[in-house]
Amino acid sequence: MKKNKNKFSPSPAGSPWTVVVLAAVFVSVLLMVTTRFADNVRERGEVTYSKYLDLVEQGQVKGVTIIGSFVKGVTKDDKHFEVTVPDEQAEHLQILRKNAAEVEISSTSSLGFWPFLLIALLMSMLMVAWYIFRPSRGGSSGGGGNVFTMGKSRAKMFLPSTIKDTFNSVAGADEAKEELQDVVDFLKNPEKYKRLGAKITRGVLLIGEPGNGKTLLARAVAGEANCLFFSISGSDFIEVFVGVGASRVRDLFAQARKAAPSIIFIDEIDAVGRHRSGGGFGGGHDEREQTLNQLLTEMDGFETAKDPVIVIAATNRPDVLDKALLRPGRFDRRVEVPYPDLASRERILILHGKTVQLDNSVDMRKIARGTPGFSGADLANLINEAAIIASKSNQDKITIKDFEEARDKILLGKEIKTIALTEHDRKTTAYHESGHALIRLLLPHCTDPLHKVTIVPRGRALGVTHSIPEREKYTTTKEEMIASVMAALGGRIAEEIQFSELSTGAYSDFQKATDVVRDMVCRYGMSEKLGPIVYAQSQGDFVYSQKTAELIDEEVKNITQDCYNKARILLNDNRDKLTMLSEALLEKETMYAAEIYELLGIEARADLRFTEEA
Ligand code: ADP
Ligand code: ZN
Repeated sequence: MKKNKNKFSPSPAGSPWTVVVLAAVFVSVLLMVTTRFADNVRERGEVTYSKYLDLVEQGQVKGVTIIGSFVKGVTKDDKHFEVTVPDEQAEHLQILRKNAAEVEISSTSSLGFWPFLLIALLMSMLMVAWYIFRPSRGGSSGGGGNVFTMGKSRAKMFLPSTIKDTFNSVAGADEAKEELQDVVDFLKNPEKYKRLGAKITRGVLLIGEPGNGKTLLARAVAGEANCLFFSISGSDFIEVFVGVGASRVRDLFAQARKAAPSIIFIDEIDAVGRHRSGGGFGGGHDEREQTLNQLLTEMDGFETAKDPVIVIAATNRPDVLDKALLRPGRFDRRVEVPYPDLASRERILILHGKTVQLDNSVDMRKIARGTPGFSGADLANLINEAAIIASKSNQDKITIKDFEEARDKILLGKEIKTIALTEHDRKTTAYHESGHALIRLLLPHCTDPLHKVTIVPRGRALGVTHSIPEREKYTTTKEEMIASVMAALGGRIAEEIQFSELSTGAYSDFQKATDVVRDMVCRYGMSEKLGPIVYAQSQGDFVYSQKTAELIDEEVKNITQDCYNKARILLNDNRDKLTMLSEALLEKETMYAAEIYELLGIEARADLRFTEEA
């Protein structure tokens, strides 16, 4: 992939922007109020102290209000004035008394007070509004309808009547559903289990990458058992103030017990459940620890409750959870929610496809085959994107071509057809992408089949060489890793061979290559020098001596350089093919695998295109 480094897209996150907007509102209110204040002063007319005394002595002043050393007054002909007087008041008062002016002494600056009151009022109103309407960070609610935000606990509560999801709403994930069936059964008939004194799990941990349906499964359990569903994200517990999280946990469980049988769903439990010993940074640490302790206490208190409350928690990082959370009686049931396999993907596509208008050309089996590594949410998104693409061109139905385009868009970002590239840029990109592609084509046994190559800019990439794995991959061989490093380096090598100049476009390729090589050395024991030892910890920190660090660096460099040399030889030996492919790309801009196999006379491999013809 070749990156366009000029494009940078910041991602506006929810709350920081809210704060910025709030601050802006605050400042403008402040400015408004103070300028209004200043205008008033100007209108009323400020007078000098001596002029003021003259006025008083001439008996022209009707009355004054004294606020410290600041005096507001009215003359007999109803002119308002203001004046600052010396701190020594005795003489001043005497003169006033002698000349029969009405005097009022005010202890606070009544003039200066109201703007601040107004600001305080506005601020607190804004804070309250922000607190109520701020976007929930979990992003896992859905469901609409009757959602109650619990005042104190910040959890959302769903009445059974509003939960439409059942196990039928979850396609695939058969093993997870089977495990959760027990939980449903227990929620429905607690007596059946209590009769013999069985202790049923009160905590279920759903483990899987985002988008694989953990929230959906939890809601389905509530739907199946027809019970109340409380939903909260782990990060919602934690606030700046120590003790807030713990009180939220207490509230939530109290609510849930009252409503039992019920389900508490905690998304992203790792936000509170990280193991406690690890060196925390600053204030948030204490707060999290207290929250976690409260959670543990509440879970232990379950035994006494009459009707069951089940806690379902979701995470994609079970390794960082505190061991105490996983003890018997707490989250002792672990349910894996993996990426869907081929059959599950097809079922998810069919399920979500029911709600849109599909053309006969759409074959979900084929789409499922061409989307390995997609999560359930990705698949739902794919269908939605395809529907949007079809709607834009006023079609009646969504065709297979729309799916093709939707997948590319999701995988690579949107095509930018308008970007103006110089001819030289286009040429460099064509050779660069051809370099990636050709390495893959020349190493067919250890690389994923090519899908398409394009020099039409997409997202931040100037060009893309796109391959799709033929099958779900559970392990990768050393040979495959080496080949992927060679393919990543192929882009730069092709540029170097053709133009004898180096460009910055290969940065992300190098990044990818380095990551793979580092993993080979530090995780998978694929370096003879360093042996079968894991130097990398799951959380990213590396533990080894300085001497080992030097060895690792050296080995990473050697392996990468080795790959570079091999790939260079390979491309040099096939320069005719490199030129042919690059020239064809310059002309056609986008080429699918089948065309390339034909052009170069290379044996064809399975084509994972949805459509038969481009
Ligand atoms: P997670 O909680 O694991 O991040 P979600 O449950 O929020 O994932 O899934 C997001 C969306 O993806 C769901 O609302 C649903 O539309 C879709 N989805 C995910 N997995 C499945 C599945 N197995 N069957 C049907 N839809 C799914
Ligand atoms: Zn590249």
